[in-house]
Amino acid sequence: MRAVASFSRGEGIVWRSVSRRLREVHAVLAFTVVTDKPDLITLFIKPGWPTMRRTGIRGGGPRGRMLVKPDGGHELREWVENEALAVYRPGDAHSVWLYWGAIDHDFRGWYVNLEEPWHRTAIGFDSRDNLLDIVIAPDLSSWQWKDEDELAWAVETGRHRSDEAATFRVEGERVIQRLRRREPPFDQPWPDWRPDPAWSAPVLPPAWKDYVQARLTETRLRASRYPLTDRGRRGRGAQ
Ligand SMILES: [Mg+2]
Repeated sequence: MRAVASFSRGEGIVWRSVSRRLREVHAVLAFTVVTDKPDLITLFIKPGWPTMRRTGIRGGGPRGRMLVKPDGGHELREWVENEALAVYRPGDAHSVWLYWGAIDHDFRGWYVNLEEPWHRTAIGFDSRDNLLDIVIAPDLSSWQWKDEDELAWAVETGRHRSDEAATFRVEGERVIQRLRRREPPFDQPWPDWRPDPAWSAPVLPPAWKDYVQARLTETRLRASRYPLTDRGRRGRGAQ
């Protein structure tokens, strides 16, 4: 596997929602990298691009769409409806998404996905979706929580502790403060951004489903970023 400290513009990568405790891969999205810098990562996805979600018995939660009994498998699905740009500041426990209609390219609005801080892997980034979201009007004039009821269900059924759920909400409130103050990314003309029309659907690499394999390579990538230290410890050519 190629050793990289960052991904290139136009490169296909995999963003995964994983359980670090259980070492399980939950949801998977294929994106094209737009920016991968120490202080900013932006990723693009459009309808037809591959995603994976866990299979099993659904029907849980207030709207019956939560997975109640996973069977260990995944199913291939496609991203639908909107083109989206995910804007992430490394270290944050959320990403800010922008949505455009796939046909008319009209800007539809902003969306805050609360999630665990991202970890770089060999194939992309790992995080964990934290259920609660915020929907923000296209002109930033209003906002509302989304899926509070599903988070409440997740606490009631022991999927999240109540103190964990409280931290998700605190992070959301932090984003709302940023929105009110028009701090990044809400100070930038992101709605005017357009993707490169040459970008095509990324192919999911085999490691998408393997929690350990993607993370082990992450360790190797880290080591390769500091070759002098690495050589000093192991001796030249030890690998
Ligand atoms: Mg979410």
